[in-house]
Amino acid sequence: MGLTVLMNSGPWLAVPPPGYGGIENVVATLVPELRRLGVRVVLASVHSSALAVDELVSIFPDGQFAHLQRPYNQVSGIAQAHQHGVVRRLRERDDIDLVHDHLEAVGLATLAAMGPDAPPVLHTLHWDLAKHPELYGTIDGGDRVRVNGVSASQLARAPRRLREHSVGHVHLATPLATGADRRAPVRKGDHSVILGRVTPGKGQDVGARLAQRAGFPLILAGPVGPYHRPADLAAAGNEALQNPDVRFWYDEVAPHVDGELVRWIGTVAGRERDDLVATARATLFPLRWEEPGGTAVVESLALGTPVVATTRGCLPELIEHGRTGLLTGTEDDLADLVLAADLLDEAECRREAARRFTPAVMAQGYVELYDRVRQSALTP
Ligand code: UDP
Repeated sequence: MGLTVLMNSGPWLAVPPPGYGGIENVVATLVPELRRLGVRVVLASVHSSALAVDELVSIFPDGQFAHLQRPYNQVSGIAQAHQHGVVRRLRERDDIDLVHDHLEAVGLATLAAMGPDAPPVLHTLHWDLAKHPELYGTIDGGDRVRVNGVSASQLARAPRRLREHSVGHVHLATPLATGADRRAPVRKGDHSVILGRVTPGKGQDVGARLAQRAGFPLILAGPVGPYHRPADLAAAGNEALQNPDVRFWYDEVAPHVDGELVRWIGTVAGRERDDLVATARATLFPLRWEEPGGTAVVESLALGTPVVATTRGCLPELIEHGRTGLLTGTEDDLADLVLAADLLDEAECRREAARRFTPAVMAQGYVELYDRVRQSALTP
């Protein structure tokens, strides 16, 4: 379609990410589909990014994720250095039709300050912004800056000045959804899974407590702060406790983790992750925050596993209660719903994923937003 997009995924992780990586995963899912549609993609990331693109712009050799364990005001210099590098490169050239930006805070401010000759910007919101308003100090000078959400509920909760710049939302996607409706069913085990960062918003404490009370096997998969393996966390010294998610683990989750009925297996990736989810009777999301996009939710559907969750954030947009999952406003009901989840049809979950959550559907959504952003840049 003759469009050249500068895709800015920021300096924190390579694309695709080496393990956990929310935004970088979204970029890695979107870009190949955009290129299939004829969009040229210049990726602004770190040098070690291996994603196939038309050109890579990078300031840092490798991802700076480890620094994010410090408070944001101590690491914003890294984001600024990346962003200034990107802006310098943008100024040297006139072939970029649109910037698709994913780097919050300084990212948007720097792009907005580029002046009237700069290309229009679409910034994708990735967070629950009612909870993290500090990520967006300003989008002043933002006539050329538009934003999109990853769900309607995320946008509805965003500060007004962001909503006023919004051009819509595009749900998250997973490559697992492509052809999911043609995949053979997998034999289910007895376990349920919580897949995600161990952090209060994801509610591993609630899940583990309910599993112990109702007696259903639960596997927790995901990192605790920067620790990906139980052995690494066990070997960490007292300074690990500075991380709020590590404290959450020890104070709220670990007391319910007995290594038998409820286990924590650390971060899982690739085939191991897919098998764990595909063989589960349900994936459980006992959310304590308004989930903005929920990649793990759509992955679960693509793998034929119904979702049992609290009715928060984007969950009602992604899951149809009684067909692809079971939703409740009452935490204590989750245990009963886990036990009822195998009444749902796993083929229905996979069909839904193949219809709504493929990279192709997501790319189509973004191409439409790019058009809208370019139109509104022409006619402010
Ligand atoms: N993830 C993973 N291994 C883990 C835990 C999580 O690969 O052990 C992946 C998960 O499959 C999903 C992403 O990390 O692709 C988490 O994205 P999501 O939108 O669910 O949550 P976020 O952490 O971005 O709030």
